[in-house]
Amino acid sequence: MTAPDGPAAAPDGPARPGTGWPDDPATPDTPVAQDPAQVRTLAASAGHLAELVARESVCRACPRLVAWREEVARVKRRAHAAEPYWGRPIAGWGSDQPRILILGLAPAAHGGNRTGRVFTGDRSGDVLFASLYRCGLATQPTSIRAGDGQRLLHTRMVAAVRCAPPANKPTVAERDTCQPWLAEEIRFLAGGLRAIVCLGAFAWQALWPVLGAAGVTVPRPRPAFGHGAEARLGGPDRPLTVIGCYHPSQQNTFTGRVTAGMLDTVFLQARSAAGVKGGRGAGPSSDYSA
Ligand code: SF4
Repeated sequence: MTAPDGPAAAPDGPARPGTGWPDDPATPDTPVAQDPAQVRTLAASAGHLAELVARESVCRACPRLVAWREEVARVKRRAHAAEPYWGRPIAGWGSDQPRILILGLAPAAHGGNRTGRVFTGDRSGDVLFASLYRCGLATQPTSIRAGDGQRLLHTRMVAAVRCAPPANKPTVAERDTCQPWLAEEIRFLAGGLRAIVCLGAFAWQALWPVLGAAGVTVPRPRPAFGHGAEARLGGPDRPLTVIGCYHPSQQNTFTGRVTAGMLDTVFLQARSAAGVKGGRGAGPSSDYSA
C-alpha cells in the first residue's frame, strides 16, 4: 500500500526497511537485534549516529512489543485504515547535532507507530509541535508524518522505549532492554547537548540510569520531578541541564494540568539553558493559566 505522499508498507503490516518510507534510516541489510544482548552489541558497535538510528529502527528484541506494534500496523484504527502504518521502532529524530533533547517514554500505537515519527500523529504531538514552533525549535506548527517537511531546530526527540507498548505501559524489562539505544545516542550527541527536557515523570525516571550509562555523573539522591524542575549536571566546559515537563497528554491538556503557556515556558527555559539564540519563532502563547 502506498500513501499519497509516498511511504511504502507491506499491505498488511509494518514498513519493510529500505522500501521507500520517507526518512527510513534502515536498508534491507541493516542488522537486526533479536534479544537484549544483541541490542547492547549493536548499539555499542555503531560507528556513527546514522548507523545507530538505522539499527534502532529494525530492532526486534522485545517479543511482546514487536507483536503489539505489528498487530496494530495490520489491524489499524478505522480512521487510518487506508494509510500504511510504520509498525517499527521509532528512532531518534531531529537535528544530529542538537543542543536540546526532548525525551518521552514510548510512542503511541496510532501515533508514532503509524506515522513513523516520534510524537507525531496524536493529540499530544499536536500540542507539543505547536509549542516548539512558537518557541523557534520547529519550522512548522504541525507534524503530520514522516516526509511532511517538518524540521526541528537545535533539537532532537527520542523515546526511552522505542516501540509502542500495549496500554502505553512498557515493562521495566522492556525499558531496560531498550536503554543501550538511548545511552549510545546520548553519547553520540553529548558534545553539543546542553539541555534535556523530560516529558512526564516516567521519562524523568528513565533518564537517570541512561545518563549514567552514557558517562554523565548523576546526582544522588536523584532530583525530584516537577514541571519546570531543573537539575544542572556536567562541568563548566560541558554543562547539561535536565528539565522536567508535565506530559502534554490529552488528559493533561483537557483538564488544564498542562497548558500551551506552560509548555512554552519549559521550552524557552530549555533554549536559555542550551544557549540557543535568535529565531524565536511565532513567540510564546499568551495562555499562561494553570
Ligand atoms: S522497545 Fe527498544 S529494545 Fe525493545 S524491540 Fe523496541 S527498539 Fe528494540
